[in-house]
Parts: sequence; structure tokens; C-alpha cells
Amino acid sequence: MIMQSLRGTYDILPEEIIYWNSVQKQAEALLINANYKQIQTPLIETKELFERSVGEGTDIVHKEMYSFEDQGGRKITLRPEGTASIARCFIEKKLYTQNTIQKLWYFGPMFRYERPQSGRQRQFHQLGIECLGIQDARADAEVISIAFNLLSNLNVGDFSLEINSIGNSQDRAKYKEELVKYLKKHENSLDKDSKVRLSINPLRILDSKDKKTQEILNTAPQLSNFLGEKSRQHFENLCVYLNCLNIPYNLNSKLVRGLDYYSDTAFEFKTKLLGSQDTICGGGRYDKLIDSLGGPFTPAVGWAIGIERLLLLIKQNTSLNFKNLDYYIAAENSMLCKIESIILFNELLKNNCRAEIDSLPGSLKKKITRCHKIQSNYCIIIGENEVKNGTIIIRNMLTKEQIACTREEFINNKIAKHKTLIAKNQI
Ligand code: ATP
Ligand code: MG
Repeated sequence: MIMQSLRGTYDILPEEIIYWNSVQKQAEALLINANYKQIQTPLIETKELFERSVGEGTDIVHKEMYSFEDQGGRKITLRPEGTASIARCFIEKKLYTQNTIQKLWYFGPMFRYERPQSGRQRQFHQLGIECLGIQDARADAEVISIAFNLLSNLNVGDFSLEINSIGNSQDRAKYKEELVKYLKKHENSLDKDSKVRLSINPLRILDSKDKKTQEILNTAPQLSNFLGEKSRQHFENLCVYLNCLNIPYNLNSKLVRGLDYYSDTAFEFKTKLLGSQDTICGGGRYDKLIDSLGGPFTPAVGWAIGIERLLLLIKQNTSLNFKNLDYYIAAENSMLCKIESIILFNELLKNNCRAEIDSLPGSLKKKITRCHKIQSNYCIIIGENEVKNGTIIIRNMLTKEQIACTREEFINNKIAKHKTLIAKNQI
């Protein structure tokens, strides 16, 4: 039987990787300019970290985590998201002693046991940023503007930003009580998931896509009426910053996001181009997370972009190809020709050129045909006669012009000239 990859996981093949590299390159350039520093945390953490941060009542902890016991009996979880690990690292490595403000970004795989579909995998990737140590709403505006700039640069088509304030935990506790009181009256008409959430995580009912539940919610108490003065001011300030930045947004009073650790600002970037998996980027403020995990009080705000969804969008608008090879080496099959070919290959690598040796059987003519197919700028031809004369032939694949020279001359003079021509796109 042929072995298969696990459901919800997939191989990223070479033709696909070029899109990944392009996104990573553009993101990295923007994040370096914004003075965010890259960080990489382990893929496995204690199960307790996510239970205590993401929260027991959330979908992630409740039913989506890949958890297991290792040989030492430790309860371990494949990370379902990035923020908890960064908070853990910030506390454990005492990053705050170097600087109370830490601006960090990460890129890597996350794992959630979900029903696989387009834009939803069990192993997926997130690019995320975290701005730790600033309470001012200007930091919320900063992280939102970074996501906005990135999405605008990446050719993802139309997207929109939704924002909300979910207040602090006391505001939410009061609101939750009122919401539950109201929803209990309509319990029988709620959808199945919402009935379960009523006791586990009632705020998530606001997220329900069910029509009947949505109708019931239309006349439910509004979270915005329960916000304290500080939260209201924070949110107002954020709106002022976004207006001044000309970043368009919609107020969405039902946006609560899935994770327990959020407070005040919650936001999502959405697209209409992906069907029901319509959130590309989700984020918010989490002022209480770090002290609840045993660190010093550190207000924070951040977001995560789902790379697979992002790539679905980018591929609708962009087509990327492999860059041409600089040299394709076509050598006859004798040992002397093969030796010459591997020496040249090695020299080309040392000179920072992209090269490949033709390793398939066949005549020189066939090899040159393959060179055409592979779209190399030059072909280096090494035949028996050339080896005897101590020369090689270099063919410009565009003009079909050929010159013969010694290996030394090629290495000392020609490579540099060819590189200039290739860089100027004159070949
Ligand atoms: P959703 O409502 O789509 O399940 P979420 O609220 O669980 O999203 P977050 O935890 O906020 O998502 O993660 C941020 C982003 O990561 C999402 O907006 C999405 O783009 C991406 N993402 C989340 N879960 C998956 C998944 N299983 N497969 C692919 N991408 C995902
Ligand atoms: Mg989810």
C-alpha cells in the first residue's frame, strides 16, 4: 500500500514554495523596517500552557489540540497558536529585563484538530507579530497598520478590517451574565453549537453563522453598552488613529474572537474571495495574559495571519515562476568529460552562479535540447574534442552564439561578464 500523508496535512511542493518564499521575503522586509525582531519558539509546549492562556472554554483547548504524553509521562501539546509560547518565553527568559518593550514576529506551523477543507488544515502556518509592553492604543494602531500595509503590498485583492472592543474581564463578566439571561429565554431556538456554548463560552455564540441564532442576537444586549470608561476611551483613541492613517474599518459589535486572553481591542481582516474561511488575519489586545502566566504586568497587542489562506488569495492574482538557471552543463559521458563538468559546477557555485549538470543519457544534441527546456541562460558544452584541447564551449541560449575558451579564462573573465549581462536582463 502507498503511504499517504495524514488528513489535513500536505506537502508543499517546489512550485508552491516560491510563493511561500515571496510572502516571507516581503513580510520580513516590512517587519525589519518596523523594527520587529524575529523569534522562534518550539513546536511542542506543555499542555498546561495552552489550558492556562488560550483557555479551557475555547474551541482550541476544548477540542482542537494535538496532545499526548511523552515517554517521561509529560503532557505535551503541538502548539495550536503562537502567542502563548511567546508569552511563556518572555517570562521564562526574562526578556523584559533587557527592554520592557519587545516587538517580535514569528512564522511557522501550528496544529489544530479541525475538519479539513479549503483554507482549513490540521497543520497550517501563521505569520504573527506581538507588540509587548505598550498599553497605549497607538500600539494597537501600529500593529493593525503593519497588517494593513502587508496585505496591501501582497496583492491579495479586496479585504476589509473589522474592529471591536471586548472590554476588560469585569466588563465581560457583567455582559456575559446579561447575555446568558437573554439567550436562556431563546435556548430552544439556538443552533446546536450555540446551545453547548451557552454554558462553556457564551460570548462565542455572537460568532454563530446560524441564521436563526443571528436573528435572536439582533435584539440581544450589546457588549458596547457594558464597557467601562477606560475601555471606551481606548477604543475611541484607536478609531482616531485609524482615521488619521486612512485605514478603513467596520465596527462589528459581534466580533469577540476565540481566545480567552483578549481584552479591549479585537480585530479581523476579512476577504470575500474565500467563501466561508473568510478571516485572513485575527488579532487583538491581551493585557492580562503575561501576568496571569506569572510574569510582570505587560500589556500587549498582536495578530496572526493564516498563510495558507493568504496564499489562496495571492495565487488568484499572481503567477510566479522559477528563476532561470545561469548555466546548464552538457558533458559527454566519458570519465574525463564528467570530471571537467563537476569541476566547472563546483567553480560556478563558488562564484555564486545557479548551475546544473545534465545527468540524463543521450548525445550532446539531446542535452542542449534539454538545456532549452530548462530555460538556462547559458549552456556549457564539454565534448571529447574540447577536453583533448583543454577548452570548453559556452553557448548563449538566446542568441545561439558560441565561444570556445579554456576553463581558466572562463572562470577568470567570462563568469563576471555573463553575470552582468544576466543582471541587466540582456540575455
Ligand atoms: P477560524 O474562525 O477561521 O477558525 P480562528 O479564530 O480559529 O479562525 P485564529 O486562532 O485567530 O483563528 O488564527 C489566526 C488566523 O490563522 C486565522 O484568521 C486563519 O487565517 C488562520 N487559521 C486558523 N485556523 C486555521 C486552520 N485550521 N487552517 C488554516 N488556517 C487557519
Ligand atoms: Mg478556529
